[in-house]
Amino acid sequence: MHYFSTNHRSAYADFREAVLKGQPDDGGLYFPECIPKLSHGFIKSFSEMENPQIAFEIMRPYTAGAIGDEDLFAICEETIDFEFPLVSITDRISALELFHGPTLAFKDVGARFMSRCLRYFSADQDNKTLVIAATSGDTGAAVAVGFHGIEGIEVVILYPSGKVSRVQELQLTTLGDNITALEVDGVFDDCQAIVKRALADKDIQRKIFVTSANSINIARWLPQQFYYFFALKQWNGTAPVFSVPSGNFGNICAGILANASGMPASGFIAACNANATVPDFISTGQFSPRDSISTLSNAMDVGDPSNFARILEIFGHKYPRIIERMNAVSISDAETTEVMKRVYEEVGYFLDPHGAVGFKALEDQLSERPDDRGVFLETAHPVKFDSVERILGTFGSIPVEVSELLQKEKRSIRIPSDYETVKELILSMV
Ligand SMILES: *Cc1c(COP(=O)(O)O)cnc(C)c1O
Repeated sequence: MHYFSTNHRSAYADFREAVLKGQPDDGGLYFPECIPKLSHGFIKSFSEMENPQIAFEIMRPYTAGAIGDEDLFAICEETIDFEFPLVSITDRISALELFHGPTLAFKDVGARFMSRCLRYFSADQDNKTLVIAATSGDTGAAVAVGFHGIEGIEVVILYPSGKVSRVQELQLTTLGDNITALEVDGVFDDCQAIVKRALADKDIQRKIFVTSANSINIARWLPQQFYYFFALKQWNGTAPVFSVPSGNFGNICAGILANASGMPASGFIAACNANATVPDFISTGQFSPRDSISTLSNAMDVGDPSNFARILEIFGHKYPRIIERMNAVSISDAETTEVMKRVYEEVGYFLDPHGAVGFKALEDQLSERPDDRGVFLETAHPVKFDSVERILGTFGSIPVEVSELLQKEKRSIRIPSDYETVKELILSMV
């Protein structure tokens, strides 16, 4: 399989090159030259298969020519060695819980898959690999844990001091070994700007192969297709409507890609917070990116979602085809809070703020579609967000991993928001 750039000004790349580079030079996103069709045999029988087998069958056409079958199977097995339960919340709405992985958020799947691919591809490289990433919380934790202990790879994570939750910070800063956490006196955008400069810095490139682990990398994007199949495996009846809490639109775009390959679905809802760039596009046909607004569901505070380019690609840039398969709605913080309280009071289920946006968007949509039922993706465990305790008065039960984490000591390097400081640090590490 080859991948082209959605900006059409960079050369095609195979899976290996696209993963190592992360992003084409023209600033676009890598996209597969053709969307594989799932066989009828697979569609009929995947619900009888083990999860790693499903993952393997889905990824195989995408990695063809770059990773052998045996190695790909091993990567899939390591990536998804945890549960993805579908939990019924009301008679028409179920939650697909994606938070049973090591950092309690869905980004574990993509980060783990990518780390294993990089290990596989860097085995035959002389230089070490440096993975550098900026985070507002969940990404950094998933990347840090996904890459921890992977040989030949050094990881540097930058996060804004005081702007990630307690659990997220501990997940980033307590691993040690090949993971270095830089606590930046600044905001997420400052961290992101430093990462961009480091990726383009020739002095660093001369010493070490440097890449990013951001969400647009195809090794993080494509494995997100798995979730939808895991939901269907546990589903009876007409295919569900999928409601996906969305920020950068990687997760929903993977679902839409799977659907384009033949996976059944009765439609997709992009559940957004006040960052309504895509909901506005759905209602007006105009895509106008803007600055992000802070909300309770902060992992979705994105005003210019990069994966939107891939959604356009899947639908051949045809607006009528997009709105036939996908709706997008904006849910306010007040609605998010109301739904978290109501669902907790009525059925005793703890929604995190991101899942709450997904639930509310689905509930609203189903009220207009009396014959449908749906699934929303519960993208993170409520304990990751300090706001849950504030709103509900409790987190419910705290998972053992988290109680253990709370005993550990944070180890970060506190730095000003200054590129030269980071550069010196990196050069002293390699
Ligand atoms: C990253 C994240 C999202 C948004 O996912 P996208 O793929 O960027 O749309 C939603 N919920 C949580 C908890 C996240 O960490």
